[in-house]
Amino acid sequence: MFSGPGWKIGRVMGIPIYVSWTWFFIFVLITETLATQFSTQHPGWTPTQHWAVGVITSLLFFGSVLFHELGHSVAALRYKMRVISITLFIFGGMARIAKEAERPMQEFNIAMAGPVASFLLAAIFYGLALPFSANSMFGSTCLYLAEINAVLGAFNLVPGMPLDGGRILRAIAWAVTKDPNRAMRVASRSGQFLAYLLILAGIVIAMQRGFWLQGLLWVFVGWFLLSAAQQSYAQVELRRMLDGLHAADVMSEELPTIDRTHSLEEFLHEVLRTGRRCHLVLGNNELVGLITLHNVRHIPREEWANTSIQAAMVPRDRIEWAQADEPAIGILERMQSNDINQMPVLREGQVVGMVSRDAMLRVIQTRMQLERFAQA
Ligand SMILES: [Zn+2]
Repeated sequence: MFSGPGWKIGRVMGIPIYVSWTWFFIFVLITETLATQFSTQHPGWTPTQHWAVGVITSLLFFGSVLFHELGHSVAALRYKMRVISITLFIFGGMARIAKEAERPMQEFNIAMAGPVASFLLAAIFYGLALPFSANSMFGSTCLYLAEINAVLGAFNLVPGMPLDGGRILRAIAWAVTKDPNRAMRVASRSGQFLAYLLILAGIVIAMQRGFWLQGLLWVFVGWFLLSAAQQSYAQVELRRMLDGLHAADVMSEELPTIDRTHSLEEFLHEVLRTGRRCHLVLGNNELVGLITLHNVRHIPREEWANTSIQAAMVPRDRIEWAQADEPAIGILERMQSNDINQMPVLREGQVVGMVSRDAMLRVIQTRMQLERFAQA
């Protein structure tokens, strides 16, 4: 339910920014909490003022989370790592970086840059609030934002994956053990433990103290952190299992082809007959594109007979290619970030095979099974 980047709301520094639907939940919750809080703290304001300040503060909080993620992004860009996207979730954000850190120090600095950005913002808001009365709309908004940015920075330093503190823990464990995978296991175990604590605390808050909404929120955040910690663990296993393999090792050398003039109906017939979901498309015996079941999905059933493959395919210049000597794990990551399942493989400009997610997952499964045999 947390997969899929969400709504794209724009670009900053060339990085696409997405908002997850879960974020709207927190937006409403924060606005409501703030309006209520302001109405008790500042009874002199009108209800319109309470709500206006609530909405503005929520939006600036949103900007603060974005600023935190941009902190990570600037650090990553300094190491020449591409930032694929920034997604804002219920409890914060996530900057997706195309490459893993190569050294513990890189991991440490990229992780640290987020909390540093938040603390910096906290200091700026505090400075802005100083000349104003804490009862004024401007003063109280700035004070609140100073507080929440400090909390954001501190919360992210909690030492468990997927939080920044987990990455910092990983960087330290990495520097000590010299083993990035072992370090990741340490950090994600710690993250899972902390997530369970949070869920437990949420249940206690809800049941014992009767703060249902807050308790539910803690459980929700804990559950989110738990699945993210488990994912980072799985990612390490994935890397380990694909270690040393290249596109040429995992590709299939069979290259099913189909002519562009055929209809989608005929393509599907071919898919059903052979079980191959991805075909190279030929036009006058030249490669002109690639077609997969994925491309057909968007076209209504009744149009399949009258739509040519040419109309639905991925044209040649937009195909994502894999190189025969490219590491398998890199290909799998590119497939994940581009949401594709197959890639044709090139060697010296010639198409020599096809890699698919399925094939790579089979390799991973087989290797895991063999490892279990060896342990037994
Ligand atoms: Zn962060």
